[in-house]
Amino acid sequence: MEYKAFLIKYAEIGIKGNNRYMFENALVKQMKFAFKGVGKFTVRKQSGRVFAEAQGEFDFDEAVAALKTVFGITGICPVLIDENKDIEHLGKICGDYMKEEHPDAKTFKVFAKRADKRIPLNSMELAAEMGGYVLDAVPGIKVDVHNPEVKLTVEVRDKVYIYSKVIPGPGGMPIGTNGKAMLCLSGGIDSPVAGWMIAKRGVRIDATYFHAPPYTSERAKQKVVDLAKKVARYAGPINLHIVNFTDIQLAIYEKCPHDELTIIMRRYMMKIAEHFAKQQDCLALITGESIGQVASQTIHNLAITNEVCELPVFRPCIGMDKQEIVDIAEEIDTYETSILPFEDCCTIFVAKHPVTKGDLSRIKKSERALDDVIDDLMKAAIESTEIMYVKPE
Ligand code: ATP
Ligand code: MG
Repeated sequence: MEYKAFLIKYAEIGIKGNNRYMFENALVKQMKFAFKGVGKFTVRKQSGRVFAEAQGEFDFDEAVAALKTVFGITGICPVLIDENKDIEHLGKICGDYMKEEHPDAKTFKVFAKRADKRIPLNSMELAAEMGGYVLDAVPGIKVDVHNPEVKLTVEVRDKVYIYSKVIPGPGGMPIGTNGKAMLCLSGGIDSPVAGWMIAKRGVRIDATYFHAPPYTSERAKQKVVDLAKKVARYAGPINLHIVNFTDIQLAIYEKCPHDELTIIMRRYMMKIAEHFAKQQDCLALITGESIGQVASQTIHNLAITNEVCELPVFRPCIGMDKQEIVDIAEEIDTYETSILPFEDCCTIFVAKHPVTKGDLSRIKKSERALDDVIDDLMKAAIESTEIMYVKPE
């Protein structure tokens, strides 16, 4: 069957009144954005529904793949749209549709809605009438009102809409309905997933990456840019802040106890990320941390890292096992990029035996060794930061 349109289903919980209007507008905007490069589509809202109609040739699979990147969509229904409301004509269309789309179906039920009161049948009668045409058209098919294999929906509104298939969407809330947050994006598996999870709740994303040239390579940086592009497919364009962290890292390495290197380094990373977060009107920070994954992510050390932040820090992977994070990374197509073997800046300066139960007062005392230099180093790192506008790949 050659479809030219999609009916979009979205969860309606919590989106009443003004919120609903905002939600639907954001959804329409993100759908238009997602269709760029797929083809020409008109996207419109109509009585509690959103439709996308192709204005020319397009590839069906590409269009569905694009819609699967739009948060807020729970179901993508390829729909036939017809202008002719004549009952006999519609019956024939329903019969042909079922024969082509579900030739082997054993059971079905018609769900009819008649919003246009000018047609002579009520909803029940319309369903029964269309069911009759389907029984005639598809050999061996039966009606099952309790547990039908195929649910055929026929809606008579301004036009007639016929559909039976619901392709799952990503769920969540449309981007732009929930402010903006700053993602600490490394080249690893977890942080792109963390960004995706928060974006899924409608939050726009910016990102900060810390590199340490020449200890980390251009290719490690390119990998992070590539990951940002992949997250941007869902989250929209990302302002990626690339911070040169080398001098800060060297100073910590030179002046602080080596078993505390990672924690101290993480604290300065968070401070700098928070600086850019505030500059970009972000209301929170995001990291890919997960309790106990590595030494710096014991609950003690997470608390110590957190202590420097004024903004809330979202850690959506916090209770997840690595495999659960990997499963999402595969689903959103960041995994293959994340496992490319380029070192990131944490791995160069890691101690052999990092503390797992850091002590805040001890860490603060150790940081005092940086008092003479750290303000200037932070200022220099912030001033030399490169900001890249990363669009979806
Ligand atoms: P991931 O795999 O998520 O990238 P990880 O398992 O390598 O993280 P860590 O290196 O301890 O774990 O980092 C924990 C979190 O700190 C990351 O998820 C990320 O949010 C942030 N982070 C770590 N390194 C960097 C970096 N170089 N630039 C920006 N953020 C970083
Ligand atoms: Mg990492």
